[in-house]
Amino acid sequence: MRCYRYLLASALLVSSAAAQTPDWPAARKEALQTLVDLVKIDTSQPAGNEILAARYLKTKLDAEGIPSEIFEAAPGRASIVARVKGNGSKRPLLLLGHLDVVAVERDEWSFDPFGGVVKDGIIYARGAGDDKGVVAGSFQTLLLLQRLKVPLDRDVIFLGVADEEAGGLRGISYMLDKHRDAIDAELAINEGGSGVFNRDFEHIRFEIQTAEKTPRRIDLKAKGTSGHGSVPLPDNPVASLARAVARLSEYETPVHLNDTTREYFRRLAERAPPEEAAIYNAVLAGNPSPETQQKLREISPVFYSMIRTSIVPTIMKGGYLKNVIPSEAEATIDIRALPFEDPEELFPRLKRIMNEPNVDLVPHPVTRPAHSPASLKSDVFLAFEKVLNMRDPGILILPRMSTGATDSAQLRAAGIASYGFGPGRAVWDLAGGIHGKDEYLYVKPFQDYVEILYDVVIEVAGTK
Ligand SMILES: [Zn+2]
Repeated sequence: MRCYRYLLASALLVSSAAAQTPDWPAARKEALQTLVDLVKIDTSQPAGNEILAARYLKTKLDAEGIPSEIFEAAPGRASIVARVKGNGSKRPLLLLGHLDVVAVERDEWSFDPFGGVVKDGIIYARGAGDDKGVVAGSFQTLLLLQRLKVPLDRDVIFLGVADEEAGGLRGISYMLDKHRDAIDAELAINEGGSGVFNRDFEHIRFEIQTAEKTPRRIDLKAKGTSGHGSVPLPDNPVASLARAVARLSEYETPVHLNDTTREYFRRLAERAPPEEAAIYNAVLAGNPSPETQQKLREISPVFYSMIRTSIVPTIMKGGYLKNVIPSEAEATIDIRALPFEDPEELFPRLKRIMNEPNVDLVPHPVTRPAHSPASLKSDVFLAFEKVLNMRDPGILILPRMSTGATDSAQLRAAGIASYGFGPGRAVWDLAGGIHGKDEYLYVKPFQDYVEILYDVVIEVAGTK
């Protein structure tokens, strides 16, 4: 069934671009091999060593005759850019994925995290889900465009970027600041969204990331008079810190929807059972009651975080002896702000909410800038809707605001409309071990993603 629909879709999509249809069985195999090769290269933070992955990709690009260049922000911290040229009548489309991965605790793993293990249709490796599948898929798309000599209105640029997991200072921020020309584009497709499939590997919905929250972490530093544990003091920093943390974590920040989250809940409401739809509609109507917000949170804690700036205490430290009042205590609060929230307004507000004069609020350096969500009417978003509807007519397609951060924050802030899409995830385990132990990716949905991405790129960049 899917095959028939797919053939129909391909025929419609490429008829005007006069391009051949890729040899998909071969391309799917090749993309998987690239992914396996990439996960075997240890690019874990904090060292990164993305240069190893960049060189691997460069060798392949050279063999295909695709011009490419490696940019090093610091020794070993490399990003690679390659380009297939179009006729220049439209501005470029950027396809990117990050080459670095988070560190592993090897003892926790059931597999060698850098062994490239493929077993029963699943690849287990650090980076399989985040983000080397996206790198391999974007890379495969570029290879196919070149080999099939697809006529393009836009240049298609591939970027394998460094340092995403640490905020992108030596990756996307460096590229935008120092080598904007190499990656400048109107539109971008990055990680951050995906299909969601069931036990039969059928997609049940697709989520295209068009916005994300931005990390605005703070430290709370409490100071007081140190003394003997037998004598209570009014400025005990442990007590002040505990009150400040409790007040912040109980503070309900204002509810605010943007174009993405409004459309997200609107589309969910259309398909949800009546009781659930009523909750989404109450959120959409504005100023949802505390009861409505609680019900939303019960459906998914992620939904609750999608409608507001979230405040989550993650670290508390203070004291060293059971009978000594320390002079200091410290906490870290992971704040995830709505994309356009102004920290200059937020932090003074939080200080008032804490209401503890001997607790200072110290913001962490900002890596991800405030930005506007990407439009739901752009060529990329419309192409996703068209391609996905051809593959799975009537399937639910949701624009999504991630609660986590990606390089798309910097791209959007720089005026490049960035969209998130990647390999499909299982509905019973959406996290897929990402950032944890035994990270994995299902091979078939990964390969389906490669086909979808190619079709979307043809739709956005192919000559009509
Ligand atoms: Zn990632």
